[in-house]
Amino acid sequence: MISVEEALGILLSNLPERRIEQVPFRSALGRVLAEAIVATSDIPPFRRSAVDGYAVHASDVRNAPVELVLAGESRAGGGMPGRLGTGETLSIMTGAPVPEGADAVQMVELCKPAAAGGKIVITQPVRAHDNIAPRGSESREGETVLESGHRIGPAEIAAMATFGYSRAAVYRKPSVAIFATGDELVEFDQVPRPDQIRNSNAYCLASQLQLMGLEADYLGIVRDDKEALRQTMRAGLERDVLIITGGVSMGTYDLVQDVFQDLGLEILFSKVAIKPGKPTVFARRGNNLIFGLPGNPISALITFECFVRPVLGRLCGMAHPELPRMKGELLADMKQSPGRTAFLPAWVTWEDDGWKVDPLLWKSSADIIGFTRANATFIFPKNRDFLGKGEIVELMLLPDFFVRQR
Ligand code: AMP
Ligand code: MG
Repeated sequence: MISVEEALGILLSNLPERRIEQVPFRSALGRVLAEAIVATSDIPPFRRSAVDGYAVHASDVRNAPVELVLAGESRAGGGMPGRLGTGETLSIMTGAPVPEGADAVQMVELCKPAAAGGKIVITQPVRAHDNIAPRGSESREGETVLESGHRIGPAEIAAMATFGYSRAAVYRKPSVAIFATGDELVEFDQVPRPDQIRNSNAYCLASQLQLMGLEADYLGIVRDDKEALRQTMRAGLERDVLIITGGVSMGTYDLVQDVFQDLGLEILFSKVAIKPGKPTVFARRGNNLIFGLPGNPISALITFECFVRPVLGRLCGMAHPELPRMKGELLADMKQSPGRTAFLPAWVTWEDDGWKVDPLLWKSSADIIGFTRANATFIFPKNRDFLGKGEIVELMLLPDFFVRQR
């Protein structure tokens, strides 16, 4: 059985080439740039006032308070002001061009009208360059402001608007299909017979994809039947990535791997030393990647985050799509049988002296209801059988960690 790290190595060495598409910049949130964004102009494009106030020659106000002749006004969007003469000042607004000749702006709070009309008292000196953003001080025309590989958030959208990029090249999102398999499964809108349960995994996985900005075609519930599995798998192989949940364990009716072989898929691993999620299968056919995730709901959720996310995130252009890791202090003693790296649910909170990890009481890898109380998992190393209260453990945060409430 391979380790979690070995499984990741296999996944990353089987990534198909990423594809690129052009999207309108307003639809690019969450995407990853496949080209550099280059400044098409200097920003600011002119010497810009950072405050509302009066443009001056710093040397004229060295011995402030002084009175200067009010020579006019420079307002944002109101044209380029003329040159400022010695002994003059100009009323100026935030974001407006500073007139040639002026080398500082005194803020309006330190200025007042003089008793004599047409003059302004500058009450305090101001140093040369104060409150002026020089032309090009934020970015220079021709300079690369965003590298290819940069993920687009709100500030990047602003950068593209700033430089007039109406479209940008980004990595294409992989197409994904999901199906669930198991004779016991019915849909959420059905009343299960006494021996049946509702399919929850397909919807859980679809929402995990949604948190990554991805959508999936849902191909429904497939019976534990080779012909039915073959048919739906063929349909799923039309997509870049197929995610199957259920039917990968050792039972008589776990037929997914047999059908992988029938369809000529190359099985790259079929068991990982992870808890929960040991029976996870990864296969490929050309550029198509296929994941067989276990049917137990927490196993499916965890193996998606550990194995599917790193692949899909990279196809989307991310260099580091893994869930964030950090460390925290365990609040209770924990035991386990060693041999597999365990990802165990916890509620993690910030206290004055660090992150605290409250392990969840959960019943098994089937207990998705218990898992609704978790915002993170802590990692129980595979060579340990005991972790003591107060020990510092590694955490893998759930994707919505920072917004979870309970
Ligand atoms: P399997 O991996 O098919 O052996 O299933 C393991 C366990 O997960 C069984 O108890 C199944 O009933 C349950 N299970 C399988 N698929 C799903 C699903 N889509 N939603 C909820 N539970 C499931
Ligand atoms: Mg099954």
